[in-house]
Amino acid sequence: MTWTSFQNFRTITDKNVLRLQEEKKAGRKVIGQYCIYSPTELVLAADAIPVSLCGTKNESIPTAESVLPRTLCPLIKSSFGFALEDSCPYLAASDLVVADTTCDGKKKMFELLGNFKPVYVLELPQRQNTDALAYWRRQLELYKDTLESVCRVTITEDALWQAIHLVERFRKALKSVLDLAKRRPSPLSGMELLEICFRASFMPVYDDRIQELEAIAKEIGQSASEEKSKAPRILLTGVPTGLGSHKVIKLFEECGASVVCIDNCTCYKKVRAYQSMSGSALDVLAKHSLDIPCAVMSPNPGRYETLQKLAGEFSVDAVCDLTWQGCQTYEVESSSLRKFVHESLKLPFLQIVTEYAESDCEQLRIRIQAFLEMLA
Ligand code: SF4
Ligand code: SF4
Repeated sequence: MTWTSFQNFRTITDKNVLRLQEEKKAGRKVIGQYCIYSPTELVLAADAIPVSLCGTKNESIPTAESVLPRTLCPLIKSSFGFALEDSCPYLAASDLVVADTTCDGKKKMFELLGNFKPVYVLELPQRQNTDALAYWRRQLELYKDTLESVCRVTITEDALWQAIHLVERFRKALKSVLDLAKRRPSPLSGMELLEICFRASFMPVYDDRIQELEAIAKEIGQSASEEKSKAPRILLTGVPTGLGSHKVIKLFEECGASVVCIDNCTCYKKVRAYQSMSGSALDVLAKHSLDIPCAVMSPNPGRYETLQKLAGEFSVDAVCDLTWQGCQTYEVESSSLRKFVHESLKLPFLQIVTEYAESDCEQLRIRIQAFLEMLA
């Protein structure tokens, strides 16, 4: 189905780079981010523009492999390849790159990235307890000081709260689009859900993001449901995906499934609501960001709780856990996740380990077809 609001959104987001350059010319600073643990609210409170730098394209990987090990995660190689080639307009526009100490591969890549761009290392703890929270809050204070100096502004408490409220509006708008897939059948394919999340994340002006997403949610939300569908409903969890690293979602849908929920940091992890609004703005941001249920945390109980909730809300028939080759954190976690999905959710589970290159597509197609046949 062709939705007018979706077409408008595509037209507007096709000009994301141009818009970013206009904003930069007007004097706004650009802060590149590799991970959602970096609170975008701090960047917005400095009146700067946050941009995502996670590489999702295979094209830059061969260049990266001239420096990085071939066995490294494709997301890291793709991101670094863009730096070597100087071929990413978002990285080129970045006045500062904030680098969270998440997995080992990324940490070491950031050292090399420092040869190309000013890099600020944000030291993310690997646990989510009270001590770690106090440490993380202190790290955010130091990051705030750095942003103030790069952007030549004072980040006030008031500006931070305004940013929190703006991001909350964005989260609600994006959630209302992603939640359309709770309908049976989902009016949006998994590829469309991914495309919306991906394109929105590059829109430099948050008010534009909110407006466009609200328009999509309204138009599709008011449309009549299509006829019943027997397509199995899949929840995709695991590593980040984007346009360019979407092959598993595409394969599932080509094989007749409907990917209704993408529980990764490109999609559903972005719409987590703030748990508490008490304390200072930095208290709220520290708590909210440290609580992200990513496999870099040890242990990572939030992933199981989230999965249970989403599997129920989206009435899924099966769970697929996607791991990029070389991503040890997600790969190690997959066996516990399989056990949880089988024993607690009573759902079929498929783990896929792959890279960005398309050379294994036909093998994956056969595995996915066999998995879907088992669900029928
Ligand atoms: S998967 Fe985890 S470490 Fe990687 S970008 Fe997402 S939140 Fe950050
Ligand atoms: S997918 Fe895994 S290895 Fe790759 S950057 Fe994220 S946490 Fe690191």
